[in-house]
This record gives sequence, C-alpha cells and structure tokens, in this order.
Amino acid sequence: MPFKDLFRDRNNPFSFFSDTGGKKPKTPKTHIRTADAAITRVIADNMAFMEDHPLEGFFDHFLDQQTPFATLVLCSDSRCQLEAFCSQPFNSIFEVSNAGNRFKADMFSVSFGVKVLKTPLLLIIGHTDCGAIKAAMADHSKLDAEIQAGLDGLNLPAHSQPGDDTATYNSKVLVNVIANVNAQVRAAVDTYSKQVADGNLSVVGALFDIHNLLGHGNGKLHIFNVSGETAIDKLHMHKTLRHLSDAEKKLTLLDISKAMPVINNI
Ligand SMILES: [Zn+2]
Repeated sequence: MPFKDLFRDRNNPFSFFSDTGGKKPKTPKTHIRTADAAITRVIADNMAFMEDHPLEGFFDHFLDQQTPFATLVLCSDSRCQLEAFCSQPFNSIFEVSNAGNRFKADMFSVSFGVKVLKTPLLLIIGHTDCGAIKAAMADHSKLDAEIQAGLDGLNLPAHSQPGDDTATYNSKVLVNVIANVNAQVRAAVDTYSKQVADGNLSVVGALFDIHNLLGHGNGKLHIFNVSGETAIDKLHMHKTLRHLSDAEKKLTLLDISKAMPVINNI
C-alpha cells in the first residue's frame, strides 16, 4: 500500500482522510491532545504531501526565489486556513499570523512582505467567533502578562455587559472583529502611506464568515475596507475591485453601516 494511502485508511487513528465514498474529504474529527500523537500526525501528513508533490512541476517553479502576490495578516485561529482564500498558497501568499490578526504584532514580517517582496496586496482578515476578540472582551486580568498585553492592545469599542443576551453578545463580538480589522487597516495605511499613494499597494480588510452570520454561506470572505475606504458605493467603484463581477461584488462586499446596526447603540 502506498504510504499516502496508509494515512487514508479509516482504520488508522491518524488518518487525515475519512472514508467519504468518493466525496470531498471531511474535516477530521480526531481531537489529538498528546504530543506524540500530534507529531506522528505531522510526519504522516508531510510524507503524504511529499508523495503528492514531486519536485518536478511543483517545487521547481520557486526554488530560486519567492514571488508572492499578497501579504496576509490572518488570525492564528486554527479554523482560519489559507486554503479558504488561495487554492495554491505556495509562493503566492506571504503569511503573517497572530492571535487577533494584529498588524503591529509583527511589523517586521509584514513590512518584509510589503517593502522587500513588494506584494501589491496587503490583506488583513478577521473572522467570526474570534477567540482573541472574545478573550479581550472578557476579564483577562488573571491571565499571564504577555497574554494580557496582547489582548489590551486590541482596543475594542464594544464592551460586553453582564446582562447581555446571546444575540447581543454575538453582535458585539462581530462589531469588535470588524472594528479591529478597520483599526489594523488604518495602522497599515499610515505605515505604508507612500506605497498606497503611489498606487503600489492596496490594503484590504475582510471578514472570514466561518459561521455564516451574514447569510452568504459558511466560509464566505467579505470585504469591507480598501485602504481606508469603507463606504459601500465607493467600494463598488474601487479600482482594486474592478475585476470582480457585479454578482461577485454583491456577494462579497459588506456594507458595515448596514451589517452592524448595533454599533450605534453600543
Ligand atoms: Zn481569531
């Protein structure tokens, strides 16, 4: 049995692929909680990857240099993965991940992507049910200092109250996720003002709607900020988005003034 098939065996507890009868593989349900099982899984997946990606035709296109088209600031949340936004992330995305998708948490890396690799797009993506946002909204005074410092740096506008019902709380989380992305975009536009002014960089803020809160499907990416512009009519006309069809714009662009009516009551 080829090595990769070994780990597609449903009797193997570390199998990445479930038996789907020819359908797309499902997300593994295994909750690995020990280091030995975790590293076994990593090595198995790496071996399967190598078998699926021979040197010729895959690595040989970018052995000499990397030429990514986007720098991405993404939350480290394990439910946020590159494959949701890029079918071929190798040599395409210069990724900078941290909890809460904070631009200033690793400016060195972001600037390396923008200024050294000169990616024309800086994409900052927040997501629904963000654990960092929720932790920042909660009492985090008893967490270790470095975690407190990171959470305090988020500066969220919507504060949860003891009497909040679930819907109100969830709305506030969403408001904060979007507000946080806007703040990160604002900081990035300030930092790379020359690149933006020269037309060499667009900073795009977006929401990864894992939970289908906005009704366009689980996993839909919604754009609501392009280099500081958030007005929906201007986003529709924005040159960075000109290659999107009207249908794609309708599905993808998010009017945050309508999507978050609760924001005015907080
Ligand atoms: Zn998150």
